[in-house]
Amino acid sequence: MSGRPGVILDRDGTIIDVVRDAELGVVTTAFHPDQIRFLPGAVEGMRHLAEAGFTLAIATNQPGVAKGQIPWSALERTHAALLRRLQEAGVPVAAIEVCPHHPEGGPGGDPALVQVCGCRKPAPGMLTKLAEALDLEVAATWVIGDTPSDVEAARAAGMRGAMVFDPRRCELCPLREGPGGMGARARPEIAGPRIDSVAEAILATWARAAR
Ligand SMILES: [Mg+2]
Ligand SMILES: [Zn+2]
Repeated sequence: MSGRPGVILDRDGTIIDVVRDAELGVVTTAFHPDQIRFLPGAVEGMRHLAEAGFTLAIATNQPGVAKGQIPWSALERTHAALLRRLQEAGVPVAAIEVCPHHPEGGPGGDPALVQVCGCRKPAPGMLTKLAEALDLEVAATWVIGDTPSDVEAARAAGMRGAMVFDPRRCELCPLREGPGGMGARARPEIAGPRIDSVAEAILATWARAAR
């Protein structure tokens, strides 16, 4: 075993909120720096984990480029702003991995990105790549996400799965029974309403393991 313990976080619905257009009733993901809205407890929770010695990284599926919804440059600008704002808040993020692929694509999408890839979660590609690049100890690394596919990706990479789960969020209606109702592969070891509560649980596990 080598390396440092890591925490790899999902972006949308985990660190930052989705973007709701109330007029059109449409929910999208942030693709402009002005659309970055940190979810309650996200910055605080990430800071606690970093202070405790976890290397932080982000792994995010962003099929909007393959679907022709957003240009790659918009994503890059948004991620640069996201990392800068986290840094300013005392949260160092070592790397961000993006899967820009989608199996079907969409009108105007980049055809080179329309493919079944090994990085789109629930595949473990981004997590494995981050573990290698950042020298993470895989078995001691947690993935925090908001969907079963984040947890499945963690399992597939040999990492531990945690889920932020707020039953009041309508986007999660299929999950309103709670994480306990999910199949074994997608069931998180830890679930809580926000990153700060999930972080406390991870740190408690960590403290127990260290004794
Ligand atoms: Mg998400
Ligand atoms: Zn991919």
